[in-house]
Amino acid sequence: MRLPADSHVHSEFSWDTGGPDSAARGTMEASCHRAARIGLPGLFFTEHLDLEDAWFSDPEDFDEHEAHLLGEDGIVTVPRFEADGYLASIQRCRAAVPALWIGTGLEVGQPHLRLEAAGRQLDLDHFDRILGSLHTLEFEGRRAEPNTLFRRLPADEVVRRYLAEIPALVAGDEPFSVVTHLDYAVRYWPEDEIGPFDPRAFEREFRAAMEAIAESGRALEMNTRRLWSWMPQWWAESGGRRVSLGSDSHSPAALAHGFPEAVAMIEAYGFRPGRHPEDLWTR
Ligand SMILES: [Zn+2]
Ligand SMILES: [Zn+2]
Repeated sequence: MRLPADSHVHSEFSWDTGGPDSAARGTMEASCHRAARIGLPGLFFTEHLDLEDAWFSDPEDFDEHEAHLLGEDGIVTVPRFEADGYLASIQRCRAAVPALWIGTGLEVGQPHLRLEAAGRQLDLDHFDRILGSLHTLEFEGRRAEPNTLFRRLPADEVVRRYLAEIPALVAGDEPFSVVTHLDYAVRYWPEDEIGPFDPRAFEREFRAAMEAIAESGRALEMNTRRLWSWMPQWWAESGGRRVSLGSDSHSPAALAHGFPEAVAMIEAYGFRPGRHPEDLWTR
């Protein structure tokens, strides 16, 4: 089986791995060596770029190594993305593992609100792939991640609000080509309290979000942390023509997680690879 490039990989240059000075140091290089070992032809290092200024969180939603990012007022401040160090590290990895195709990238949180400001801080043309992610939703004048909101709103309301914001995410012409993890809110679904998540209860909302993404001409990521066969099915039926495959790995061990199964799944809904492993799959 010919695997596509892993289109969503984090390294020590993403703030939520702990940063370049933490135990995550060397993650980029280790991911490249692991990719070569498992026969992955390529990957994109899509580091987090989050410029939120009123993002609040509950302390329990942050791991111990991230606790210092949360102020006493509950507002989160993440360290600045170190573009120079990142690009230098990419060059070192390309030299160290020449058989591997290594692409640059960013995962921009709330690009519809923040990418313009990001473009003033950073030359976005340096990046081969820019992912757009919805990580926070507006709540009482500030923004919060779904995990924090599940403590404040009924669970189905969180998922509905998440999907309802997707059309705004893709309405503009900000330069991101892929929408990531459309099931992001579902990661935190309070299963222990209310039972397993049933996607059919939100089919209308998922399809409406997918139609908006398809109309914008962007691709939808199949996030392989959790594989859902309804995701490529509804995407194809909503007019979606392009997909990427992304493991969203934050450590080398999670690289290309579930890729063989994901490839079989997207092929079943008519998606086919491009000429190069780093190309999006199309139908
Ligand atoms: Zn992350
Ligand atoms: Zn993300």
